[in-house]
Amino acid sequence: MHQVLKALMTMLPDCEDMLVENIVRPFHLSDDDYKKIMDLMLESFNKGLGKESNETARVKMFPTYVRAVPDGTEEGDFLALDLGGTNFRVLLINLKGQEVTMESKIYLIPQHIMLGTGIQLFDHIAECIFKFMKENCLLEKNLPLGFTFSFPCKQKGLNKAFLSTWTKGFKCEGVEGNDIVKLLHEAIERRGDMHVECLAVINDTVGALMSCAHSDRNCALGLILGTGTNACYIEELPCVELWDEDMEDPNFVLINTEWGAFGDDGALDFIKTDYDKHVDKHSINTGRQIYEKMISGMYMGEIVRLVLEKLRRHGLLFQGKGSEELSTRGRFYTKYVSEIESDVDDGFKNTKQVFDELCIDHFTEEDCRIAQYVCSLVSTRAAYLASAGIACLLNKMNRPEVTVGVDGSLYRFHPHFHDLMMEKIQQLLNPGLKFKLMLSHDGSGKGAALVAAVANRLNAEKKL
Ligand code: BGC
Ligand code: MG
Repeated sequence: MHQVLKALMTMLPDCEDMLVENIVRPFHLSDDDYKKIMDLMLESFNKGLGKESNETARVKMFPTYVRAVPDGTEEGDFLALDLGGTNFRVLLINLKGQEVTMESKIYLIPQHIMLGTGIQLFDHIAECIFKFMKENCLLEKNLPLGFTFSFPCKQKGLNKAFLSTWTKGFKCEGVEGNDIVKLLHEAIERRGDMHVECLAVINDTVGALMSCAHSDRNCALGLILGTGTNACYIEELPCVELWDEDMEDPNFVLINTEWGAFGDDGALDFIKTDYDKHVDKHSINTGRQIYEKMISGMYMGEIVRLVLEKLRRHGLLFQGKGSEELSTRGRFYTKYVSEIESDVDDGFKNTKQVFDELCIDHFTEEDCRIAQYVCSLVSTRAAYLASAGIACLLNKMNRPEVTVGVDGSLYRFHPHFHDLMMEKIQQLLNPGLKFKLMLSHDGSGKGAALVAAVANRLNAEKKL
């Protein structure tokens, strides 16, 4: 063979690498980028906390009404609802001092209900509660309920929560701007066959924080990395201008940041890729939850799919031949990212399985390597972006030691998310500060029951 041609042929793999690299380049962010993101986030947080600026702020920094923490004297049976994550669940929780036992069941929320009316949604929820109580022989009882409702709410009391806007896959008509406790109670009354009173509504981040604070006194931050993403933290009262003056002063205020909306004012435009823009454009809440869309499980698989498709179209993957599945929006699940990245030195077992599920039947080891590389770039950017958010809050709180209570399917099942975050937060943190990431065990269930139990105890004390 001609010498020059031969040289060209051996260069080809490198050349291909360069072409791949060109396509994925926007996912590599520099340290300066992450520092800039932290600065912009701090600005957004402060804007949300300010009395005057809150109205136009995108990151709402909602004060929660969770003030008393469990003191271990709470007892009895409580119901809890968990809505807004991967699954909708009804739980029965028994508290006896430090001991917590629970029973739970997952119910499906069909797509047509997620996109239907509020009445349909709450009738469905009430029906699930009824089925659960019936199965567990609870219908004769009078049970207090705690509701983990994982959407942005403006609270006006522990059991008064006005939905500000739907996020993730939900868009039920007639709920935004309304008190979800009222809607739930109305649905329960329409049935008229059970005695349930909702005493507290909490966000899932608050549940994660509460359930970890139960065993770790330093826990002052709750983080969710699941279908969506969000964080809550303990703020000092003077910083919370939104706190109503005639309310009795608490020692601290738990703030639900709703940081998923960071970037909705364009703050993240400087790092947005074409893939991010595409995902946003085809979502049911275009222009909103920009930070969430770069991080969370509802969107990660789709970002990866878009990159793989682009590589394929350029002939850099699967010899240019894909499949209908790979070309279908939403068909590349985020769990595939975790599975593909879990392959280590075992001949790409999971990766091949994923390709198989996507009906791609002609691929090389090189294709496996490239797919794994794309997954790792997208998930690493997500982990680092979330780390910038956490480091920003930790620096702002400026406490010597903080434990972060974390929950969510992405954090739980991704093989490297925890390690990536430990490394990046450490790097972005102000010197002298220490932190831990602690996995929350069923915060959404336990947290809601604990908060309802405290409310129940305080109500009882008031009546005495
Ligand atoms: C919601 C938050 C929630 C987060 C994690 C976001 O879409 O707005 O309230 O905490 O998802 O579930
Ligand atoms: Mg959850």
